[in-house]
Amino acid sequence: MNIILLGPPGAGKGTQAERLARRLGIVQLSTGDMLRAAVKAGTPIGLKAKSIMEAGALVSDEVMIGLIAERIGQPDCKNGFILDGFPRTTAQAEALDRMLAERGLKLDRVVELHVDDEKLTARIVGRFACAKCGAGYNDATKPTRVSGVCDVCGSKEFVRRKDDNRETVVERLKAYHAQTAPITPYYRGLGRFASIDGMADIDVVEAALVKAVGAAANG
Ligand code: ADP
Ligand code: ADP
Ligand code: ZN
Repeated sequence: MNIILLGPPGAGKGTQAERLARRLGIVQLSTGDMLRAAVKAGTPIGLKAKSIMEAGALVSDEVMIGLIAERIGQPDCKNGFILDGFPRTTAQAEALDRMLAERGLKLDRVVELHVDDEKLTARIVGRFACAKCGAGYNDATKPTRVSGVCDVCGSKEFVRRKDDNRETVVERLKAYHAQTAPITPYYRGLGRFASIDGMADIDVVEAALVKAVGAAANG
């Protein structure tokens, strides 16, 4: 099953993609995570992407399309994948269509998480993750059960993304509205599209997503 999760920064794509990937036994392909790994490793793509990401702008279509084309060809993707953070422009959406067609693959479902901009800023500035296991948290909406201790692995070290600050969020939202939101009508027009309320609690959003995707599995 091949799924795209659409939505603005902070909508909950990463949180939901991880849960759904585990549930369906397919892989989560987060282009943001892939870029952050490249930055950390100091690869040529990472060196190019670092300042662009810190400014809240989009990395070039050429780089992103190359990254995803390479990734979906790997063996672990053959049972299916959830794209989280790609496509983000019309050119990326068109390139994805070509890539899928070349490989004889299709999209089973495109799901948009709808969240108002005002909520997004608070979510993004409150986001943090366990440095050891990567579990995601939020100061306001999903704190650790015991203050300063990861629920999952017990680690006491946490990380925050460099771009999760108020100034950069403004730029990221601008990029979303100018470059990414315009691809939604395209997917809506193709069908197999669902829009769900991303402002509900995490578990409620998960249930709605499972339902939206289950409907696709049944045709
Ligand atoms: P995205 O990948 O779309 O940028 P994330 O999944 O990282 O979004 O979520 C952004 C932040 O909001 C994280 O700190 C996460 O814990 C929190 N979050 C995610 N979904 C919800 C929700 N439904 N309600 C409240 N907070 C949420
Ligand atoms: P979020 O969903 O919270 O905005 P991501 O982790 O998806 O964040 O992306 C972080 C940054 O990585 C983006 O602001 C952008 O600079 C870059 N990026 C990720 N995916 C893409 C993409 N498909 N096209 C262009 N840039 C991307
Ligand atoms: Zn942990």
